[in-house]
Amino acid sequence: MFQNLYPSEDYDSAYQIDYEGFYDKGYRGILFDVDNTLVEHDQPVTLPAIELFENLKEMGFKTCIISNNKDYRVKPLADALESEYVYKAGKPSKAGYEKGMEIMGTNRENTLFIGDQIFTDIWGANKAGIHSILVKPIAKHEEIQIVLKRKLEKIVLGEYNKTKRKAQA
Ligand SMILES: [Mg+2]
Repeated sequence: MFQNLYPSEDYDSAYQIDYEGFYDKGYRGILFDVDNTLVEHDQPVTLPAIELFENLKEMGFKTCIISNNKDYRVKPLADALESEYVYKAGKPSKAGYEKGMEIMGTNRENTLFIGDQIFTDIWGANKAGIHSILVKPIAKHEEIQIVLKRKLEKIVLGEYNKTKRKAQA
């Protein structure tokens, strides 16, 4: 029922993904959401995030942060992570994803997307035709409009998990 909102895969955290495995499968670029995916909403960059991006670079990945947030929020993070970035990406429109792939020189077949929100991150990645990975949000305390969205996400996730269980049965 909600197929275009389902992620291709889901993980507990962006820090628990087997990126080398994806490299071996031919993936070369990763588009990341930032707030609640890599760091807490509106919080500064963390050591684990810096280490993750260093490792990804060593593996041979290109990275690009795509955020709906403003330049003054996204640029310092992207600079600290030595990553390309797209601000005011307009997710769930696919334009920001396409811009990110253009910057990385990758395409929909060899690009991954990783984010924490179904109605912006995952929906947009699916529209762009990219392998979409949903992770659990980092922050425990969220703004009210996000709390409301989470309730709607729960409904979609319930259906997604049913489909997943059926596929695994
Ligand atoms: Mg987010």
